[in-house]
Formats: sequence, structure tokens, C-alpha cells
Amino acid sequence: SPVIGVLALQGDVREHLTALAVADAVARPVRRPEELAEVDGLVLPGGESTTISKLANLFGMADPLRERIAAGMPVYGTCAGMIMLAEKILDPRSGQETFGGIDMIVRRNAFGRQNESFEAAVEVAGVEGAAVEGVFIRAPWVESVGARVEVLAEHGGHIVAVRQGNALATSFHPELTGDHRVHALFTEMVRTAG
Ligand code: GLN
Repeated sequence: SPVIGVLALQGDVREHLTALAVADAVARPVRRPEELAEVDGLVLPGGESTTISKLANLFGMADPLRERIAAGMPVYGTCAGMIMLAEKILDPRSGQETFGGIDMIVRRNAFGRQNESFEAAVEVAGVEGAAVEGVFIRAPWVESVGARVEVLAEHGGHIVAVRQGNALATSFHPELTGDHRVHALFTEMVRTAG
């Protein structure tokens, strides 16, 4: 089974570790560059992207992460993790940096105050069977994508799941639902990336 890390600086790390284990990966938390070097793929969890960005700098993880993502390590970001994979963020708080990896512009907290948290059925390309239960918590959406980015899902006319090569991102949180098909899709991406 592939070894998949979960970036464990802040956010819903435990939920991702559980979902990955169910999806047949060997899952471990990753906090240090030495731990990053040992995984075949990495999940960037949901949480608070400004905090993840600051802690990544503090722990000396930002550059190693950028380098491995740029070198093609499979990576999956949910919500705050999606924000961290964007080449550009709209309305970033001052100094917020991302790791990049997907040629997209992401708008933070995009779904707005009246809808800060909600659930919706989302059809995700590449996930067989019934729609995925999308849990959106102060979720971003993808404002625009470059030519190499594949749009996997939309909600309310906005892009909420994308893939570019070995990088996958969703605005929503499959790790909170008990439905691990998106984690299974990512595990398969890691397996076939060899
Ligand atoms: N709004 C958060 C951010 O900007 C993301 C929320 C989440 O991950 N559930 O980082």
C-alpha cells in the first residue's frame, strides 16, 4: 500500500488519517522535512490556511513542500488545503503564502456569511456511483483555472473540485462524512504515480 502523509501543523488531521486508512493507504502525520521525504503522497487538511502557512514557515516545511509538489508528488488539499495549492489567492490576509501546484485562482471564504457552513450533494468526475456529500465549512471556491486544470465538480455555478496532474483539491471535506471514495481516488493516484 502507498504511504500517504497528512500535513499535521493544524487542521483536521485525524479525520484524514482515518479516511486514508479506510481507503487502504498507510497513513501518517507529517510535521518535519525528514517525515515528508518518506511519504509517497500528501494530504493538506482543512483548517485555517493563514495558520498553516505561518506554521509551515516556522517548521521549515514551506520550501520542502513547494519543491516536492513541483516535482510531482501526489497531493490532495481539502478546503484550507485547496487554498494552499493555489498559485494565487484572492483577498489573502497580509503575508499569506501558498505552496502552489495547481494553476488556479481561489477565493477564500467565498460562499459567504449566510452560507458559512452547509452540505450539498456534489457530482465529482472520477467518483463512481451516487453524488458525494459535500460538507462546506467557510469554504473557498475556484475563481478561475488554467488550461491544464481539469474541473471535477461545480456547486451553484462555482468550481469546487479540480485536478492538475498529480494534484487534487476540493472545497469540501470528504474526510468528515464517512464516505471515503475521494480518498480512494487519491490513494489510486498515489499508487499509479509510482
Ligand atoms: N476559511 C478557511 C481558510 O481560509 C478554510 C476553512 C476550512 O478549511 N474548513 O483557510
